[in-house]
Amino acid sequence: MNCPQCGKKGLRVINSRTRNESVYRRRECVACSFRFSTTEISMADYQSLQSCCQRICQLQQILKES
Ligand SMILES: [Zn+2]
Repeated sequence: MNCPQCGKKGLRVINSRTRNESVYRRRECVACSFRFSTTEISMADYQSLQSCCQRICQLQQILKES
């Protein structure tokens, strides 16, 4: 993973916590000190999220065509 601010590699985790099934991590860029959060989700959650996004895309397509 690269820093979203400067695009460089080299991120350190400054904090991580688990809530329900999800893991949240607070990361800091070693190069520019930019801080941001990441989260990990289970594959089951990812797949249901993916099918949800596909439905939204289909709906947007339908709305565009009408
Ligand atoms: Zn950076």
